[in-house]
Amino acid sequence: MISIVTPVYNEEENVEFFHDAVTQVMKQLNMDYELIYVNDGSRDRTEQLINMLAEQDPHVRALTFARNFGHQIAITCGMDFARGDAVITMDGDMQHPPELIPTLVEKWQQGYDIVQTVRKSTEDAGFVKNITSRGYYAFINSISQTPIVPGGSDFRLMDRKSLDTFRKFHEHSRFIRGIVGGLGYRQTSVEFEAPRRHAGTSKFSMKKMLHLAVDGIITNSEAPLHSILYIGILAAFAGVLLTLYVLYCYTTGNTVPGWSTMTILISIFGGINMMGVGVLGEYLGKIFQETRNRPLYWLSYDSAMHMENKSVGFREERH
Ligand code: UDP
Ligand code: MG
Repeated sequence: MISIVTPVYNEEENVEFFHDAVTQVMKQLNMDYELIYVNDGSRDRTEQLINMLAEQDPHVRALTFARNFGHQIAITCGMDFARGDAVITMDGDMQHPPELIPTLVEKWQQGYDIVQTVRKSTEDAGFVKNITSRGYYAFINSISQTPIVPGGSDFRLMDRKSLDTFRKFHEHSRFIRGIVGGLGYRQTSVEFEAPRRHAGTSKFSMKKMLHLAVDGIITNSEAPLHSILYIGILAAFAGVLLTLYVLYCYTTGNTVPGWSTMTILISIFGGINMMGVGVLGEYLGKIFQETRNRPLYWLSYDSAMHMENKSVGFREERH
């Protein structure tokens, strides 16, 4: 069975259209499926509409949040409830074209565990969004500890094994693209052209977008923290050089009273201060890693299957 997970926030104009489009594609594909709508605390008729769809169509399951928790959390919730052998996450505004589902499934059947989609460009995103998106991915990949596919969206297929591993990531601030990029397994990607929204306007305000962008950097990289320590060390070194210069001026009498002491104090202590903050930052980084409580390791698909088979055999032997 395939689970399709779709977060919806004030999408009353789109849920039925999206449902029809998915139904048509899945009928052609002739596979068992479920369509899980996660209503992210909408204030319009989205909740009534998805409940109605769930009543009419046994493939549909409707979940509604008590309030708006955000797109990333809504996707996570849907993945928690998914019962399929593979799960496809996609937006409900038709910008993630349902016609691409058969391609994702085909790649999965070819043996890939994760099929990521890559947006080539977005018709209605405009020049600024396309450029900032490209710049952002270049930047994040240059500092990230794990690869993040540029232009990657949250439109992807994950098989059961990678989904189970994903569910071991309990962090609150989450940038799903980063987590999935770091899962390993057999990953591949498929390109697509994102069309315009079917109806309505983007539910991602500038504030939400910035928030996600910052989360992406903070959760994938400790480079900002390390940079403070490096800058501190540089500042302390510059402080020492400046002190030598000030002492030289002092011995040649080329100063005004008080200047030497002040300059030395400021430059040395400035550097030491910054280094101190940097050291604190290093520990903070470690605490951050520990509190996220991410899994230490996970086995490759084949290895995990092998171990499962072995332990079943072991249990049988004991009986
Ligand atoms: N969405 C959500 N919660 C939010 C914002 C958006 O569940 O707080 C959903 C929205 O309904 C849509 C998907 O996430 O199905 C992507 O949002 P949107 O299309 O507005 O983003 P854009 O495509 O403009 O980046
Ligand atoms: Mg959209």
